[in-house]
Amino acid sequence: MDRLDRKLQELFPEILSSLQASVRIPSVRASAEKRAPFGREVGRALDHALREARRLGLRTGECDGYVGWAEIGDGDEMVAVLAHLDVVPAGDGWSLPPYGAEVREGRLYGRGAMDDKGPAIGALWALHAIQSLALPLRRRIRLILGTNEESGMADIPHYLQAGGESPRFGFTPDGDFPIVAAEKGQLHVDLRGALPPHRRIGLKKLTAGTARNVVPDEAGATLSCPDETAAARIADVLNEGASAGGIPLSLRGKGTETLDVSLRGRSAHGSTPERGVNAALFLMDLLGEVDEDWARRLREVARCFLGDPGGRSLGLAVSDAPSGALTCNVGIVEGGEDSFLMGLDIRHPVTADAEELLDRLGGWARGQSLGMELLRRKPPLWMPPESELIRRLQKVYREKTGQEPSLLSMGGGTYAKALPNTVAFGPRFPGDPDVVHKADEYIALDSFSRTVRIMAAAMVELAS
Ligand SMILES: [Zn+2]
Repeated sequence: MDRLDRKLQELFPEILSSLQASVRIPSVRASAEKRAPFGREVGRALDHALREARRLGLRTGECDGYVGWAEIGDGDEMVAVLAHLDVVPAGDGWSLPPYGAEVREGRLYGRGAMDDKGPAIGALWALHAIQSLALPLRRRIRLILGTNEESGMADIPHYLQAGGESPRFGFTPDGDFPIVAAEKGQLHVDLRGALPPHRRIGLKKLTAGTARNVVPDEAGATLSCPDETAAARIADVLNEGASAGGIPLSLRGKGTETLDVSLRGRSAHGSTPERGVNAALFLMDLLGEVDEDWARRLREVARCFLGDPGGRSLGLAVSDAPSGALTCNVGIVEGGEDSFLMGLDIRHPVTADAEELLDRLGGWARGQSLGMELLRRKPPLWMPPESELIRRLQKVYREKTGQEPSLLSMGGGTYAKALPNTVAFGPRFPGDPDVVHKADEYIALDSFSRTVRIMAAAMVELAS
């Protein structure tokens, strides 16, 4: 074990209490205050970290309360570690206080312990250890502390716009080990279509989902019928269709002229639509049982997406070796008497040409008489295996863990996209449970200690 590892091991009790102090600050986004654009507690978490940095002899800086940093070394070029101090709300279901930072059976429990205060505070102490051993560096090392990763990512763009320095190399310990080298590109697209007028049974309302990047687990529609008998008949038709398809359906309003239809699917992240059951698409398809042109139209469009999370029917089925296949999630569906809207979240492979995909999608939409609007476009991130950043991080990971540093790809985006020349590196080890954003979030002390040592070694490697 080298000197740096030994030093960090000696410091570990102090690192732990420093992390506990940070976890005890409930740094959930709140309304802006003076010098705290994301709320008082988020500001306190940043102040705490910068105070710790100064106490440990690091240079510090700040950018309007959006971002703080701690730095060591000199040289023209800079290596960045990008971490964040804001957390998502605790939510329900905790068996320990979410901001108690209690240690039980080798784990530190608390919101933010893993995401991302553990890595942030750990990196701070790694800087201190490197500085106190006076290890030779060719580049400066800067820990950049963001405060808005969880609710909009306005922090790093603000830092860059204010002239904040970009790194020669960077990593963000806010994802998975070994290395996330590929993150798909993202397109948010809305499709709008007209619905033919009804003859007897009308569609008053159709609604499902609240976010494009989530598979909706619930969908509902309200139908208007000329009389109770017609409503009862439609209820039978839908029930039959649902049971034939094995769909859990619930109907309300039997015995009146209005029929409320709702069904449940299974939620999943929008970057992995194949893991969910899209309630919106199933409902649109099921409504096709109603003998109306608008209903047939909804079914026709739904069937272009149902059972096809790869966008094949839309002409979008592309994939590549670094990042896999394109995914297409219908996250929002809204409809009424004469029109409907579908909100799509598309994640495309890193080597795909987004412009060409949009052309193809546009062609498909025109063919279906659908209007299309592009709402968001996030480019992919890809660091090729032969790049210096990847090679150096792989070397560190192999040396520190004895494991093969395979390259991962993700459909979701990490913080790495915020900063140039940066990839996600840790803190979750392969096979470890995913505790992020869940009740009883924790960081295991042995993994935490290992993560700090790996980060420190990576800092030195990239700065040499
Ligand atoms: Zn995070």
